[in-house]
Amino acid sequence: MIASPIVCDKKQGSLLESLQISVCKLFNIGKLRMLIIISLSLVRGLIPGIQVFLIGLLIDAAANSYSFQYVLNSSFYLGGTIISAYLFDNLIIYLSDSITIDLSKDVDFDIVDKLCNLEVQQFETEETYDLIQRADNSTGLHIFGLFDSIRSTIQSGITIFSITLVIWSWNPFVAIMLIVAPVPSAIATLKIQTMAYTIDYNRASDRRVVSYYRSLLMSDSARKEIILFKYADILRERYSVLQKEFQFQDLKIAKYNFTIAGSLGFISIIAIIVAIVLGARSTLESGNVGALAGYISASTSIGPLMLAALVGFMGLHQHLLYISNWVAFLKLNPKTPKSGDIPYKGSDPASIEFRNVSFTYPGTSYKVLNNISFKLEAGKTTALVGLNGAGKTTIIKLLLRFYEPTSGAIFLDGRDISEYSRDTLYQHFSALFQDFVKYDRSLADNVLFTSSSDDRDVDRILKTLSMVGLKYLANLLPYGLDTMLGRRFENGQQLSIGQWQRLAMARALYKSPSLLILDEPTASVDAISENSIFDAMSQLSRNMTTVIVAHRFTTIAHSDKIIVIKDGTVHAIGSHTELLEQSEFYRKIFYAQVHYHDY
Ligand code: ADP
Repeated sequence: MIASPIVCDKKQGSLLESLQISVCKLFNIGKLRMLIIISLSLVRGLIPGIQVFLIGLLIDAAANSYSFQYVLNSSFYLGGTIISAYLFDNLIIYLSDSITIDLSKDVDFDIVDKLCNLEVQQFETEETYDLIQRADNSTGLHIFGLFDSIRSTIQSGITIFSITLVIWSWNPFVAIMLIVAPVPSAIATLKIQTMAYTIDYNRASDRRVVSYYRSLLMSDSARKEIILFKYADILRERYSVLQKEFQFQDLKIAKYNFTIAGSLGFISIIAIIVAIVLGARSTLESGNVGALAGYISASTSIGPLMLAALVGFMGLHQHLLYISNWVAFLKLNPKTPKSGDIPYKGSDPASIEFRNVSFTYPGTSYKVLNNISFKLEAGKTTALVGLNGAGKTTIIKLLLRFYEPTSGAIFLDGRDISEYSRDTLYQHFSALFQDFVKYDRSLADNVLFTSSSDDRDVDRILKTLSMVGLKYLANLLPYGLDTMLGRRFENGQQLSIGQWQRLAMARALYKSPSLLILDEPTASVDAISENSIFDAMSQLSRNMTTVIVAHRFTTIAHSDKIIVIKDGTVHAIGSHTELLEQSEFYRKIFYAQVHYHDY
């Protein structure tokens, strides 16, 4: 993964820290370009003041019939400042664009890199989910925006200072009036910006609800229920309530803008007119016509400059807030289960033992698994059976090293599983999850993602597809293994849910695992396909250990041993016949299913 890490690694996210990290990031990416931008901006800030001075000279020269050479020289200098300002602005824009492009790419890589390293457990908390949602690619724009706000505030400040200095040299009182005049208008702008930001900030959670309603309305999987349960009108109603609230708040700002900001702006205009009148009067006394032109040009430029400086300054806070979301996301610290140094070879079927394992999910106090012990014998198929919430999936999560047991240990081939490197375990462990993924990619990618189609082992893919009864798809689909599946992309072919599940099974079988975990593997598969899948599996099963989380007794029938899990404990272990004899609980769930489900 090509990602440039943030070298400044600080503790958990304050705005100050976000500022430090942003500065580091900016310097890492475009130190030279930033220095050029800063230098150009400092000089660029002085140009308007020089222009006011030169305009004054030029008009004075014209009014007092100075020599042509003098007028030509002044015009030449003025033209020089105009051209310089144009060139500086363009260069600043170009350099800014190039830094922003590099930053956006870099920030995007940081996010993707972090996403690649998140643990399963992090997707099980709302906090992480929020952070993932908020850390978006626009962070690059905000980091540059932060720099640009500081830069433009300083540049505007220098310009105001240089213009004021020139005016001051002609008439200090007019200079003070011109500086004071935009203040009421600036205060109003500041107030509106704060109001708008507060509203926007408080709106964040409602905005998420609105976007969730939109996504439901756009989702193909929700469409059936939306029609069947007539949810469309209700969703529209809820959507419009929130949108009306947004509309009301926006109108409130618009009204405030019109009344209060309008009045304060009017005061500023009056003050500017007073400054011009004062300037005109002093021109009458001094006869310096050029100064009058300077007063007029300054009166129209200082106000917008002051606003630009203020808006830039206000923007700092907003940019920092956005950046702090990204910083907090990057600081997500996955509690990675221990990964030892010993490589797991996986050459034989795995033998597993849970010894006195208890488990409590992080952030909760309830023991989901309570002192469980059992063995999964090498080369055998074991079924985990129990009611919803009994703890079967949690056992799988521990076995797959997504979580660390709170107490007790899991042994793999006689050694504590935490001593093996997790990466090597995953080379030989495979699973078909109940919520398996339907990749909207090619048929081949659904069996195994490879970097390019040249890297794939076509024979092996076809052999695996044949095990799950899907080899015919490679011949039937228009582009064979390269046919896009799903509806998201062009020419995508949709499969039935049962076909998707068999494809997920092919994915699990492709690497000939030492341990295969199947969570309700044939729930969506018809009875004939189910039998053929289990037949194919039984050919492989000599070389692998299989765990099946099963509700259907047709599935359980394919196992050598059954472990009954009840309320986070091992309730009973045995074969189907043994358990029917020994466990009333097992009999109860078996007969309930015989009567109501499978038959
Ligand atoms: P089963 O697979 O047998 O239906 P699970 O192992 O999924 O049961 O869940 C066992 C218990 O653990 C349930 O009470 C469930 O609410 C709880 N649980 C599952 N996942 C989490 C989680 N991420 N955080 C907290 N509790 C959880």
